Amino acid sequence: KVTGEKFEFQTEVSRLMKLIINSLYKTREIFLRELISNASDAIDKIRFLSLTDPNALEGASTLNITIWADKQNKILTIADSGIGMTKKQLIENLGTIAKSGTSEFLNAFEENKADMNLIGQFGVGFYSVFLVADKVIVTTKNNNEDKQYIWESTAVNDFTIAEDPRGNTLGRGTQIKLFLKDDALEFLEDSTLRGLILKYSEFINFPIWLWTTQSQVVEYKELDDDADKNKESTDDKKENDDLDQPEVEDADKPEEKKERKTKTIEVPGWELMNTQKPLWTRDPKNITDFEYEKFYMSFAKDSNLPLAWTHFKAEGEVEFKSIVYIPGKAPEGLYQKVQDFSRNVKLFVKRVFITDEFLDFVPKYLAFIRAIIDADDLPLNVSRETLQQHRTLQLIKKRVIKKALDLITDLSKDEEKFTTFLSEFGTSLKIGAIEDNKNRKKIAQVLRFPSSYEGSNSTTLDDYISRMKKGQDSMYFITGASVEEVQNSPFVEGLVARGYEVLYMVEPIDEMLVQHMPGHGGKMFKNVAKGEFKFGDDDLAELEQLKTKFTKLIDEMQSTLSDQVEKIQVSARLTTSPCAVVATDWGWTGHMEKIMAAQPF
Ligand code: ADP
Ligand code: MG
Repeated sequence: KVTGEKFEFQTEVSRLMKLIINSLYKTREIFLRELISNASDAIDKIRFLSLTDPNALEGASTLNITIWADKQNKILTIADSGIGMTKKQLIENLGTIAKSGTSEFLNAFEENKADMNLIGQFGVGFYSVFLVADKVIVTTKNNNEDKQYIWESTAVNDFTIAEDPRGNTLGRGTQIKLFLKDDALEFLEDSTLRGLILKYSEFINFPIWLWTTQSQVVEYKELDDDADKNKESTDDKKENDDLDQPEVEDADKPEEKKERKTKTIEVPGWELMNTQKPLWTRDPKNITDFEYEKFYMSFAKDSNLPLAWTHFKAEGEVEFKSIVYIPGKAPEGLYQKVQDFSRNVKLFVKRVFITDEFLDFVPKYLAFIRAIIDADDLPLNVSRETLQQHRTLQLIKKRVIKKALDLITDLSKDEEKFTTFLSEFGTSLKIGAIEDNKNRKKIAQVLRFPSSYEGSNSTTLDDYISRMKKGQDSMYFITGASVEEVQNSPFVEGLVARGYEVLYMVEPIDEMLVQHMPGHGGKMFKNVAKGEFKFGDDDLAELEQLKTKFTKLIDEMQSTLSDQVEKIQVSARLTTSPCAVVATDWGWTGHMEKIMAAQPF
């Protein structure tokens, strides 16, 4: 028992802990997921350091996570040989500096927009330990010169930190002891722990060992020294063999059969909980959708199912394996705030986690994709910065972008899923059509717009083109705030009456889109609220007649309205409405005026 230096929790953290302690959250088990995830992150970090610093692993050379329960004292311990924490890091990470996620989580929680299960997504997963424990002791030793420290807290207001009087017992890493609440003792049971760890360790790339007591049926021969010797020798052999192989040899020996005696003994020992074969290294043929979904939810820390994914192996110019996912839901604030989505792409080199701190791995409009990339050709022993400049990485980016767009194209063939996709990420797609010159054509093929033909159902541009009237040389569109608004527009009525189809561009971004994307499939866009219109010859004759008929009126209006409008003319584009205010080809439409007026600059 050591009395340590006392620290106050940062106010926000303290609030968060009160909430956690008092929470009657049913699935408290998620604390284990959070601790395993932290342990895995910590081992990722030291492994990454060891690529450039051969001495980094000196403190502890085995990279693993161990978990054991002490029933007598009601303590559950989770330990890792990860990077550990210095005293300074302990103070900052576990209590005194509130991460931005702390208040975000508190707010979301209070507004019922988040439940405890999402705590990890907000970057405050550690505190979930207080769902099950009323006291927590963290012992940690960083890989550098700093000493081994003990952090201790009973939550809420303060914690203490003391230098460990035992010295460096860990070598390197972190050990977290949870003093379980009396109603959380189920987390000391082998069967409970085994089930939970299996569930949460499946996609952890380091061995997770659980101390368990397993019943084993053993054979024995009474008063037979030779038999014992035999057993020893088979045991030796077994260690070198595949452990999964059942022993069949003995069964073939008839003379032993009659003397066979068995008994059940309890064998305590370390039990390996995961196979650590990363999903992306496996053959897609043998992976079920369910596995892909579980993997996504685990690595993306997303509680929603993914919408679609593609698992591929790139070959040729650059070689890597990858799984690219489209989430089922757009993250909060995808378009509103400038958010750092850098963690959405995780880069591994030969199965070693390198980084997920990319600033612009994919263009902004694709920032919503989640991807795992495992490359073979990247140098391991360079810094993250050097790595990100590497030519191979540029090639990888190009391939991943192409695959993501292919995935979206494929998805567009699934009506239901694509509707979901468009409602979550439709704006991203349009930003892509605006910004990505190289891929504009591909993106334009899956864009959809409501139209006078389809109503609020949407049409692709290709389908629109296939319905264009003979002699129609451009794709007619109108911009506005809603389908209801534009379909009653006088600009549309004349065209529709003549059998032309008009695209309804009713999203704020559409106005920008048509400016940057002049056309598609060899056809240009034509704004029906702008400029002149040419129809067939019949119309022309009629138009000439009308022009003569209304010369006087036009002259009169021209002189009266000369300050307000550029010119006044007789047009064939209207049918029932008497007149319309039209923008010039290079001017702003009424809708654009509204958008510009609403801009803050
Ligand atoms: P997050 O993992 O999202 O950063 P947590 O609340 O789970 O948020 O953890 C807070 C921080 O505490 C981590 O970022 C890490 O720096 C540190 N930490 C937690 N557990 C460990 C551990 N086992 N080893 C080393 N550092 C850890
Ligand atoms: Mg965490």
